[in-house]
Amino acid sequence: MFRRRVIQTLALALLSACGDGGGEDQGIPDGPNVILISIDSLRADHVGCYGYKRQTTPNLDQFAREGTRFAQHVSSSSWTLPAHAAMFTSTVDSVHGCVEATGTALNPGFTTLAERFQDAGYATGGFYGGPYLHEVFGLGQGFDEYVYCDKSNREVFPGDKVEAWSNNPNNHARSHNGVTNEAVYGAAREFMAGTGKRPFFAFVHLWDVHYDFTPPPPWDTHFNPGYTGPVDGAGFSRNDQRYAPGMAAADFEQLVALYDGEIGWTDTFLGKLREDLERWGVKDDTVVAITSDHGTEFFEHGTKGHRQTVFDEVVHVPFVLWGPGRVPSGTVVEDQTRAIDLAPTLLELADLAQLDTGMGHSLVPATRSGRVEFANAAVSELYSIGFELRAVRVEGGKFLTDGRDGAPIPERWYDLGVDPGEQAASTEFKSGRGAELRQQYLQTLADGELAISRRPGGAVAADLTDEIRRALDANGYLKGGDEEE
Ligand SMILES: [Zn+2]
Repeated sequence: MFRRRVIQTLALALLSACGDGGGEDQGIPDGPNVILISIDSLRADHVGCYGYKRQTTPNLDQFAREGTRFAQHVSSSSWTLPAHAAMFTSTVDSVHGCVEATGTALNPGFTTLAERFQDAGYATGGFYGGPYLHEVFGLGQGFDEYVYCDKSNREVFPGDKVEAWSNNPNNHARSHNGVTNEAVYGAAREFMAGTGKRPFFAFVHLWDVHYDFTPPPPWDTHFNPGYTGPVDGAGFSRNDQRYAPGMAAADFEQLVALYDGEIGWTDTFLGKLREDLERWGVKDDTVVAITSDHGTEFFEHGTKGHRQTVFDEVVHVPFVLWGPGRVPSGTVVEDQTRAIDLAPTLLELADLAQLDTGMGHSLVPATRSGRVEFANAAVSELYSIGFELRAVRVEGGKFLTDGRDGAPIPERWYDLGVDPGEQAASTEFKSGRGAELRQQYLQTLADGELAISRRPGGAVAADLTDEIRRALDANGYLKGGDEEE
């Protein structure tokens, strides 16, 4: 990628030197800046404009009022790596193959969203705060700059400091406790401000909503002032007995208030972004997409965190699209949409060619009509740490398979119309809704939307050096169980 970029830059320089009739803007794309913001672990039902009881997201809500909000947006998975691979390639997990914690990387044969922008002459920058977005997993394809902004963890990967890092038991906890929004937004801001006349594509991954839930003041007490019990949000990712299904109501309220505090803290950076776009005078030349990779469980199905199920608390995520003059304001699309539809939408807004292997559809027509006109079964999968879950979600229903040997319930379905919490599984498939949903699932398989054979080469082994492997393993990243991303 770097080489192609250099060649392109040289070609542009030559054109300019020859005075080839185009003036100084020759070769600079005339599309809008495009900013993709992924707020890690943000479930849709804790966002103000999605009906939440608390004012967690005034800035996101303003983007939604001035743009288009997609009410039922569904992720491809319930953890960071595959969900972002789906966003970047417009393919579901069983197609991009980037699904396991033990080092699968995105096949370089895929053309990614960032590569499309880079090839078109955009400046491209990715800024992230969580370890599974590291370029070793292939997600850095197409970025001129791709920067890991978590200072506490960054030393893992260069290699020379790995031993010291992995021998320090505090490092894993620190990566979850650390406050990274300032570093991520600071780096992204510097990039966006420095691209001159060239439009940019910026990927901004805000990590702090991810557990542990230890927001900085005043957000640590903002939503539940006066609490004096034992819950401080730390240790949520571990077998800490303070966080259990039977925890006291007041402690549970505090736990959720701390998660909401992380959301409120993170939302302030969307306010900073708005101010910066206005200060730089580019508000009318910029498209902003705000979404999340997955949600967070609070014992709805017995467990906490994520990367354990594909129920709605972990796959229903927000998606807001904003762009004055390009994205209609005030539209709410109630029909279901998918993470794989994100890249086609951003490419159409920038008037760029679609991804050859993309499985999604542009939602630009839906921003105008308020309706999704294509068949939009949403596939959510989990193939990591021993799980083998596949769900096909349609309007009002979800079909779920558990492919593990000896799975207690290999196939079941939920009526989301009367059971949005997915508490009452049915295994009745002979007729009625169950038969319909099963047929829909089989059709999805037949259409190739789950077929592994369709993927162009699938994933490749991540180039994990022994040092990186040791460091990840020492901190539980390769073992599964309680340590999730
Ligand atoms: Zn994540």
